[in-house]
Amino acid sequence: MKNNQATELFRDFLKRGSNRITPERFEVLEAALEFDGHFSADELFISMKNNHSHVSRATVYNTLELLCQAELLSLRNFSNKVNYYESNFKRQNHFHLVCMDCGRIVEFTDNRLEEMSKEIGENLGFKTSSYSYNIFARCEKKPDCPWYNGKKNA
Ligand SMILES: [Zn+2]
Ligand SMILES: [Zn+2]
Repeated sequence: MKNNQATELFRDFLKRGSNRITPERFEVLEAALEFDGHFSADELFISMKNNHSHVSRATVYNTLELLCQAELLSLRNFSNKVNYYESNFKRQNHFHLVCMDCGRIVEFTDNRLEEMSKEIGENLGFKTSSYSYNIFARCEKKPDCPWYNGKKNA
């Protein structure tokens, strides 16, 4: 196990919720933390399969849900109805800008958004625990946009 601390956090979480502690769940945790960037449940399942894992698709799906509840992963929705996940472990909270044409995702941070999120929570009588923002836009520099280039070549 490379991510001992994450493993411990997840083990505690599973115990607290009386969830079964199975090696498969930790296999999913490991693969999810090692995945570079944003991934869907199917993408993770396929990459695990390619690495000769025998974990079932159902286990991948329900473990991802548990990992989000344990706040080791963040759930992202980039408007195309597919849920994406990314590691939240030892990562700074960040926001996303998504190109509506090519789907390119750029990550950014902005203190104003962080403060605003806490303030809005407080004003409405909540303690803000996490927040997620997506800005939907279109690549301005056309050479950077694969979608635009594909269209031009067609
Ligand atoms: Zn991200
Ligand atoms: Zn684009």
